[in-house]
Amino acid sequence: MNSKTTIFNLFSSRLKNVIFNNQIKKNQKCCNYIIGKFYSSDKDELKEYKTPVENIRNFSIIAHVDHGKSTLADRLLEITGAIRRNSGAQVLDKLQVEKDRGITVKAQTVSLKYNYKGTEYLLNLIDTPGHVDFATEVHRSLAACQGVILLVDANDGVQAQTVANFYLAFGRDLVILPVINKIDLKNANPDRVVKQLETLFDIEADSVLKISAKMGINVDKVLETIVEKIPPPPVDRKKPFRALIFDSWFDRYKGAIALIYVSEGSLSVKQYLTSVHTGKSYEVKNIMLLRPEEENVKTLFAGQVGCVACNMRTTKEAFIGDTLHLKNQPVEPLVGFNPPKAMVFAGVYPMDQSQHVALRGAIEKLVLNDSAVSMTIETSPALGLGWRLGFLGLLHMEVFCQRLEQEHEAAPIMTAPSVTYKARITGKQNIKDYGGDEIYFNNPSKFPPPQSVIEFFEPMVLGTIITPDEYLGGIVSLCLEKRGVEQSTKRIDKDRLVLQFILPLNEVIIDFHDTLKSLSSGYASFDYEDNGYQKTDLVKLNVLLNGRLIEELSTIVHASKATDIAKRMGTKLLDIIPRQQFLVAIQITVGAKVLARENLKPFRKDVTGKLKSGGDVLRRRKLLQQQNEGKKKLRMVGDISLPRETFIDVLKR
Ligand code: GDP
Ligand code: MG
Repeated sequence: MNSKTTIFNLFSSRLKNVIFNNQIKKNQKCCNYIIGKFYSSDKDELKEYKTPVENIRNFSIIAHVDHGKSTLADRLLEITGAIRRNSGAQVLDKLQVEKDRGITVKAQTVSLKYNYKGTEYLLNLIDTPGHVDFATEVHRSLAACQGVILLVDANDGVQAQTVANFYLAFGRDLVILPVINKIDLKNANPDRVVKQLETLFDIEADSVLKISAKMGINVDKVLETIVEKIPPPPVDRKKPFRALIFDSWFDRYKGAIALIYVSEGSLSVKQYLTSVHTGKSYEVKNIMLLRPEEENVKTLFAGQVGCVACNMRTTKEAFIGDTLHLKNQPVEPLVGFNPPKAMVFAGVYPMDQSQHVALRGAIEKLVLNDSAVSMTIETSPALGLGWRLGFLGLLHMEVFCQRLEQEHEAAPIMTAPSVTYKARITGKQNIKDYGGDEIYFNNPSKFPPPQSVIEFFEPMVLGTIITPDEYLGGIVSLCLEKRGVEQSTKRIDKDRLVLQFILPLNEVIIDFHDTLKSLSSGYASFDYEDNGYQKTDLVKLNVLLNGRLIEELSTIVHASKATDIAKRMGTKLLDIIPRQQFLVAIQITVGAKVLARENLKPFRKDVTGKLKSGGDVLRRRKLLQQQNEGKKKLRMVGDISLPRETFIDVLKR
């Protein structure tokens, strides 16, 4: 179970308005009360932890999903006394999505106190979510670290994300502590994993720790190794204050909260700070350490990690990657990292316009806590007023929708996801002189008229796949079918390979991951990173129902695949669209050319037919009521009812 996240959520109150509203509120009240009682007489009595720099260690745990990162974090918290052993608190609060999918959605951070050989150390454990979509969060978390624990499952061995994460940490010159987890498992083969680490990363066998996070075996060694092998942060407390924002979230009472890593000087409550990015200044209201509950402190010193509340109204002001300094004491921005970049876009619409306001409220609440989501207003002839949201990846999008449904009871219509394409078009200027104008578009309705386009470009990714040999054939065919170009193949084991492919992002976002998993019975793993734009050939597929263009079902595809995809969409639509009272002609076209055509026969479902004449009235009523509720879930598009999942499902296999 992903229990560490739970505790953080429970105490740090960052997600408190999301679920388990009441419990959290209670917690918050009691926290305020204690703080109030303790400090209200004199604010200056706030504590300070001026841990010497040489006693600070900032580190992160990186691992493939399910390799035990949360479990290990839990144990570290227990050993250092940050939480009670077996405190059932974990199970109380957790995003339902995280429970369902076994992933960490938001990164969390905690400061631990650890006594080692008579000295007190401050260990800042900076958490990262494990999934590819959230790679940007891994990036920014690593910027505050000097070392990482590379955690690998003794059973599964090195996986795609292990490789991707290793290179992220390696590229930043971080100290890497290899740890093999789950040695208690019956089939665990830690020696094999040690060999994989040697082959892939040149890691020395005797530097690898073997632990069981679940049973607590050798976890104390992990703490000792952190203190001994990871260097203290290279900071200067004498220089003026300079800090990096590497996460932010929204607190209903305090506004946006920035999680910062102080690289120089110190920051105290009531000082004024300025954002390099926005130029705005704020008075510092609260400074908190996460231990893991928020603990108010007066000052944060260089080398430390903590939260700052300063009445920023939205998380968009607490720009991740931004540098903060004291007002009127400008500094060079810390060379940070790129802000999260939305890669996948989709339209979101209410089922009917009466739900518009409620849906907007729900989306805005979620976006407050997830600054990686971009949001613009969009209108559609059939679906009305909605939004176009940008996500880091498909999983990010699915998680967002699931949270909309579970936490806000909103059931919006999502259009098919799309990536951001680029085109060079004949502009107002003379093409010969200027080479045309460049435009970007992610919405099929913005697809430029083909006659004006000189050339198209699409975003590419570098994908890493790790697979047992037996699935190699299937996986290579899948990658080729997805227009992938093989880069390299390397053996990491007697029966395991790592493959690298350059793939178009739009081929990866729909169902690549699912297909890969089913092709390999779940054994292959996949990760990807941005690989720039590449020239391509695109067309826009249109869907016509009874001759009427349904813009919301349009999609942009590679020209070579248009016919295949059109045929597939045709059969899929025939499958998804419920029969209507009248015949529905389904046509998939490119421009004026029809690539696929299907006829949906009229039909009227007689739900009470099975009941004998004069059957039970209640039963009859119930059946009709069920049918009615089913109908409510359908969306009328040009007088044809479509289930709300149509827009995405039509593109899946
Ligand atoms: P994460 O996705 O990396 O955060 O992984 P989790 O900490 O959520 O762990 C995934 C699963 O592995 C959970 O079911 C844990 O109970 C289990 N697990 C974690 N560590 C160990 C271990 O040392 N031994 C065994 N047997 N299971 C473990
Ligand atoms: Mg986890």
